[in-house]
Amino acid sequence: MAHACPRCGKPVQRGYSPGAQFTAGLVGALFYAAFGPFQCATCGKIPTSEFPPGVRKNIILTSAGLAAAGVVLLVGVLCLMAIGKH
Ligand SMILES: [Zn+2]
Repeated sequence: MAHACPRCGKPVQRGYSPGAQFTAGLVGALFYAAFGPFQCATCGKIPTSEFPPGVRKNIILTSAGLAAAGVVLLVGVLCLMAIGKH
């Protein structure tokens, strides 16, 4: 999903950190996608607080969904690892 930049109106993207993906794998990437800053091609990083309230609510809901997906994924992987040890 794309949001408009509050400064220039261009679409912004979530920033993805190669470092976070390297250290924590898919779960880390998910959490970074959920809580990382937005990135505008023109203005750089855009803090969530600069978006209008309606958009911010949308962003928070999406972040919560991504975080929940990350937790479910983490628990699933831990369960698989626990089963594999027996
Ligand atoms: Zn911008």
